[in-house]
Order: sequence, then structure tokens, then C-alpha cells
Amino acid sequence: MTKLLSAYQGVVNETVISQLRQLGSRLTGRSVVHVNSTREGGGVAEILDWMILLMRDVGLDAHWEVITGNSDFFSVTKKIHNGLQGFPVNISKREWQIYREVNEENAVRLRPILKEADLVVIHDPQPAGLLGLCPDRQGKWIWRAHIDVSRPARSVWRELLPFVSGYDASIFSMSQFAQPLPHPQFLIPPSIDPMSPKNMELDPEELDSVRHQYNLAPDKPLLVQISRFDRFKDPLGVVAAYRLVRAIQPVQLVLAGGGATDDPEGKEVLDEVLEAAAGDPDIHVLLLPPDAHRTINALQRLADIVIQKSTREGFGLTVTEGLWKGKPVIGGDTGGIRLQLVNYHTGFLVNTAEGAAHRIRFLLHHESLRNKMGIKAREFVREHFLLTRQLREYLTLFHILSSGVDSSAIYI
Ligand code: UDP
Repeated sequence: MTKLLSAYQGVVNETVISQLRQLGSRLTGRSVVHVNSTREGGGVAEILDWMILLMRDVGLDAHWEVITGNSDFFSVTKKIHNGLQGFPVNISKREWQIYREVNEENAVRLRPILKEADLVVIHDPQPAGLLGLCPDRQGKWIWRAHIDVSRPARSVWRELLPFVSGYDASIFSMSQFAQPLPHPQFLIPPSIDPMSPKNMELDPEELDSVRHQYNLAPDKPLLVQISRFDRFKDPLGVVAAYRLVRAIQPVQLVLAGGGATDDPEGKEVLDEVLEAAAGDPDIHVLLLPPDAHRTINALQRLADIVIQKSTREGFGLTVTEGLWKGKPVIGGDTGGIRLQLVNYHTGFLVNTAEGAAHRIRFLLHHESLRNKMGIKAREFVREHFLLTRQLREYLTLFHILSSGVDSSAIYI
């Protein structure tokens, strides 16, 4: 598969493209390997899908490797994930041992490619242990944390620290997540691909057909939250907010999500959501396959308001996806959602189901404001959260690390 930077001309201006080509030309032929823990499902896979191809197009020899593990491993890494996002968890010595062992198994398979690579980007905690298992590495290694590590459970952070300290640099999505670490840290928020099936323009016939397929009423305001079924995404809070609105006016809700292969809690949360939604024909809980990108795109476009009521969020790509489609977004006042939602401009930040309901009703009653906010929302994304900005920041970081300049004084 190929993806060409030139296709983005028109979405962003020409100088953006030529700057990326210039940066790429300084890195021609350098090998970069990204490693994460799932090929599909969740924001990291969504980003790596385009990033590998565009890095190749600007001249890098880019690869994407995925670690494998059994269900015990992914239960432990989900606990680590929850702990890093501030949820109190107890991880036993045996569980940390499982974490180490699975990293060792993956290191055996990946070592040949990792030790030769000029640059290695390890995404999130699951594969973080690989660094210590490649003692003869030649390139620079970066740890990229996508989650909200602003207030980690101390015991989890303490155990993880020896795995991440040895990296040459780390990347966080926002300054609030930066941690005391013995290497330079860079701030690079995620971004979306405006031309992917998830975000491209769709014609009205396709929107109609998705509306019919899921039995959505054309004349009732539609609220949409797209998320893995994860407690931090607060789907039950969304149902509660919907109920408060529904008590006063007609409205319908879509909660759509699928599983990620590295997320073992999804089934449990989905069951809770189904129970909360039972018997209400205006709540549509959709379990979508991993490649349902156009369907998600259509649902976001059909929405009057996009919701992302997370209680913790590293970034929340679904917020940018909604904004790009010209929708005001109501999002949890947390983590990376705060980078994207500017009250009264691109959406609203909320802390409770009651607050969300209040903002939903306000927006449903102010159609012209809603439209104006939608226009601002799209331009805000064009300026800050398209893939070209993120690619530029990665290439700049690669250039800094491979040219050996003192990166401690450099800010991205
Ligand atoms: N997503 C998807 N199918 C689903 C649920 C989510 O394709 O059933 C996509 C969603 O559109 C977004 C990404 O997965 O692109 C989720 O990224 P986000 O940063 O919002 O959350 P994460 O899952 O990484 O915590």
C-alpha cells in the first residue's frame, strides 16, 4: 500500500508539503521501526496506519511491528494502563514477571530488526520493556506515551520507571503529562488523516444508507459517542446524560465501539452498557468490526453533537474526528480533550452527566451557534490536528536525535 503526501495538497497549503519533503530529505534511507501492541482498534493503530506510509513517502525506511502476548499479559498491561491513568490498581510481582517474560519473548523475535534500526519508537507501556532487551542496539530509541500519565498511581510508575528511563527521549501529548525522567521529553499531540476512510467526505446517499442500516430516525436529534467500551470513556455517564435530556425532549443516542485486541475489559463494560440501555429504542449500542471506518465516519457526520465524555484521556482522536466533520463536541474535562475543546468555540468541557446534559440541551436549542461552532471546529483541526503537523514534529525530532545536537534545549 502507498500513501502520498502530494494527495494532501489542497487540504493544507503547499509550503507545508514542501517543508515535510525538505525535512524528509535530511533523513533519506534512515530506518525507523514503530512498535505497539495492536494492529487495529484504538488511536495508536489509527495513527500508525498512515504514519508508516507517509514516512516512507518522504524517504524513510519505515516499519511497524506489533508485539504479541497471551490474555494474562494483556490483563497485566491493562492494569498498568489503568494505574498510569491514576486508577488505584494492585499489580503483583508475578504479574510484573509476566510483563517481563512476554517482552522477552517478543525481543527474541524483534531483536534483529530493532538492533539495526536507526530510530525505534516504542508506543505505550506494553512493549516498553524491549529497550533493556536489546543491549546491542545501534539507533536512538524513543518512548511515546499516548495515555494520560499526569497523576499515575505511584506504585505503577515506580515499577515502570526502570523500563522507560533508558530511552533517549520520550514523547507525551501535552505538558501536563511530562514526568521527571533522565532524558529529553517532547510534546507532540496526535492528529488525524483527513483523507482516510474515517475522515474523508462522504456523499449524502451513503449517510442515508447508514441511517437506515442502524434504524436512526431522520427527525430526532442524534448524539454520537464512538469509543472502545472502556470505563475511562464513561459510556454509562453518556447514557445518564442522554436520559436527562430525553426526559425533556426527543433525542437519540448512538454508542458505537469495537474491541482492541490489547483491551481485555471491553466485554464487561459492553455488558454494563447494554444493561443500562435495555428497553430504550432510542439508544443504539453498536458493536462494530475493526474496519468499520466509513460507518464511523458516517455516524459522526449524521450526529448533531459528538460526545466524548471520558474521565481520563491521553488525547481522544474521536474528538478531533468529530470537530473535523464540523460538529461541536462535548467532552470530558480531562487530559488531551482539553487541547481540543475550547468552550463556546469548538465545543464544551464537562465533568458530570448533568453538565453534559445541560450543554447538549443548550446546543440543541441554538442551531445557528452550533453551525458556527462547527465551522470553527474544522478550522481549529486544520491548524493543529492534521497529520502533516504531527509528521513534521516527528521528523524534526528524528533529525535532532540523529544529528547528535544537544536536545535538552530544544522544544517541539
Ligand atoms: N475507533 C474505531 N472503532 C471503534 C472505536 C473506535 O475505529 O469501534 C477508532 C476511533 O474512531 C478513533 C480511535 O479508534 O480513531 C480511538 O482513538 P482515541 O484516541 O479516541 O481513543 P483510544 O481508543 O486510543 O483510547
